Amino acid sequence: GEEQEEIEGPAPSLSQIKHIILILSGKGGVGKSSVTTQAALTLCNMGYKVGVLDIDLTGPSLPRMFGLENRSIYQDVDGWLPVPVETNGIGELKVISLGFLLGDRGNSVVWRGPKKTAMIKQFIKDVAWGQLDYLLIDTPPGTSDEHISIAEQLRFSEPDGAIVVTTPQGVATADVRKELNFCKKVALHILGVVENMSGFICPHCEECTNIFSSGGGAKLATEFDVPYLGNIPIDPKFVEMIENQNVSEKNLVESYGESTLCPIFKNI
Ligand code: ADP
Repeated sequence: GEEQEEIEGPAPSLSQIKHIILILSGKGGVGKSSVTTQAALTLCNMGYKVGVLDIDLTGPSLPRMFGLENRSIYQDVDGWLPVPVETNGIGELKVISLGFLLGDRGNSVVWRGPKKTAMIKQFIKDVAWGQLDYLLIDTPPGTSDEHISIAEQLRFSEPDGAIVVTTPQGVATADVRKELNFCKKVALHILGVVENMSGFICPHCEECTNIFSSGGGAKLATEFDVPYLGNIPIDPKFVEMIENQNVSEKNLVESYGESTLCPIFKNI
């Protein structure tokens, strides 16, 4: 006979989370992890309690972006304990990444579907997030087992939806359309499209130059009848901040406040 679908309620670990946002992209390298980081830091700067869950099991880059490399996560009776980012009392920021569980840093994980699905289930069910205003979930690029698994897992938690990240060149490809179609197919609410690396802010005169043609992200959003959240220019200051090894000592949240506090995440 046909397999019966298991109906479950929301995971208890998610019960104190107000909003859940997935960050998706059609392909890698468009800045999905950077956008997740910027969104987290922006929301934290606004005083919110923010959690970040990195389920990009193929190349978790968030520990590096948050200056949390070489940190480990531990389990207590409530589940996995997320790693806190120092915020000097501005909001709250906690991170869980598969990167924390990898022995050999920088090694990506090659796991088959069922094992990945099991790991994601664990991450969703067994993290002791406590109270959060926002949980941001950084997913692998494309539409794979991970996405189907997470869309199913969160069905009952009423996720606020997904932000789809693309680049000006990306909108010309089929990947981002595929991503948007996937969201519609699995009934995942789309919060909107963000066009990243759209233009370049000159570090000397702060003028923004469009290197590639612009406006593609907005057109795509119109075509799919979803909101266009805005564009993020190529920002050398952001890269410098992320690449700067001492930034964790300086306080990432404060440094970010001084640099690019991205206005588009104030609308989510
Ligand atoms: P993805 O998660 O989609 O694979 P990343 O967030 O890792 O992509 O970004 C890829 C590279 O591009 C990183 O080195 C990152 O620092 C850089 N990058 C992404 N967005 C921007 C931006 N707005 N300005 C400058 N550099 C960026």
